Amino acid sequence: MTGLKAALTLDEFEIPSVIVEKSGELGGKVRGYGKTFPDFRSGRALVSGLVKRVDSTGMIRVLRNCTVSGIRTEGDHYRVRLSDGTSLDAHAVILAFGFEPFDATRQEEYGYGVCPNVIAAPELEALLDPLGPTKGRLLRPSDGKPVRKAAIIFCVGSRSKRTDSPYCSRICCSYSTKQAIEIKESDPDAQVVCFYMDIRTYGRGFEEMHQYAREIGVKYIRGRVSECCALPDGDILVRAENTLLGKPVQGVFDLVSLSVGMTPSPDTSSLAEMLGIELGTDGFFISADGGLSPHDTGREGIFLAGAVTGLKPIRDCILEGTSAGGRAAAYLRRRRA
Ligand SMILES: Cc1cc2nc3c(=O)[nH]c(=O)nc-3n(C[C@H](O)[C@H](O)[C@H](O)COP(=O)(O)OP(=O)(O)OC[C@H]3O[C@@H](n4cnc5c(N)ncnc54)[C@H](O)[C@@H]3O)c2cc1C
Ligand code: SF4
Repeated sequence: MTGLKAALTLDEFEIPSVIVEKSGELGGKVRGYGKTFPDFRSGRALVSGLVKRVDSTGMIRVLRNCTVSGIRTEGDHYRVRLSDGTSLDAHAVILAFGFEPFDATRQEEYGYGVCPNVIAAPELEALLDPLGPTKGRLLRPSDGKPVRKAAIIFCVGSRSKRTDSPYCSRICCSYSTKQAIEIKESDPDAQVVCFYMDIRTYGRGFEEMHQYAREIGVKYIRGRVSECCALPDGDILVRAENTLLGKPVQGVFDLVSLSVGMTPSPDTSSLAEMLGIELGTDGFFISADGGLSPHDTGREGIFLAGAVTGLKPIRDCILEGTSAGGRAAAYLRRRRA
């Protein structure tokens, strides 16, 4: 999403660009979202609108199934070596290669990877998607039983020193609340219980969405889940401590979804080393000037945008793709002058 917006912004300045995309398709994670918070617009439709614009301008070349394997300064430009053995010359480079969801097997107490009915949020996203594997019906993976009672556990792989991810991932409270609403709206009798540490729905329209979830009966329990155990019939027993009452609580659910946080994309450290630019203590890129130049790095002509500098919702990625494209355009104009 971020990279597409950056390329389209450069196009508005009549500056040609090349998108280097690792996978076979453009659009990143958002391409796989049926509905997105806060306004329940289709992520897929957002992406396909941008991809159509990218395809229709003659100024943007797209290289799919391709990565950058090397980059060096040559005269007044960068020589970028690609994984297909070819290379290209660029006067500016925008890094917009996103994030990676936290690997939930690292928090063994939740049973992810062992209990089939404990899933991670990206899988719940696919199950709720009308174009997904179950055509939007929430059926549990082990036996296809319709889910009537679901638990959502917040802060998995975030705010935890044990997993080396002490930061708040910022968007999981909101995407999980959106998922809970989708479950309730498709089956008003279904029970959805969210176990949370704090609710951080900070953006415009996010808190209103959270209030709506409560109004339609999504239940929120402030609690730390200690473990999820699979029962012989495939149900999941969730044990937690209600931290408001100071009492243990437990419940049996058809399905448990883990609201996984975000970690840096696996290519972050190799690209940082290749380019000689800095990473923060959280492993994401940091911008120059203590944030006063949000897209700039320590290297001239190399810019940052989107989730490479940390977690943010789609709306902020659209903004950052646009402003990084503008920043790169200003840099290129200044060089030419
Ligand atoms: C389960 C879940 C649900 C979410 N729901 C919402 C929502 O409803 N609303 C919302 O606002 N936000 C939501 N988000 C957040 C949203 O996913 C991000 O804001 C958005 O994906 C970030 O976009 P991006 O383009 O920066 O990165 P990405 O979406 O990660 O895209 C990065 C792109 O770079 C490519 N790439 C990676 N490495 C390389 C490489 N080395 N070379 C070339 N290409 C590479 C990838 O293939 C990908 O196409 C959700 C997140 C999760 C995990
Ligand atoms: S956004 Fe919410 S669920 Fe995600 S880490 Fe922060 S507090 Fe936890």
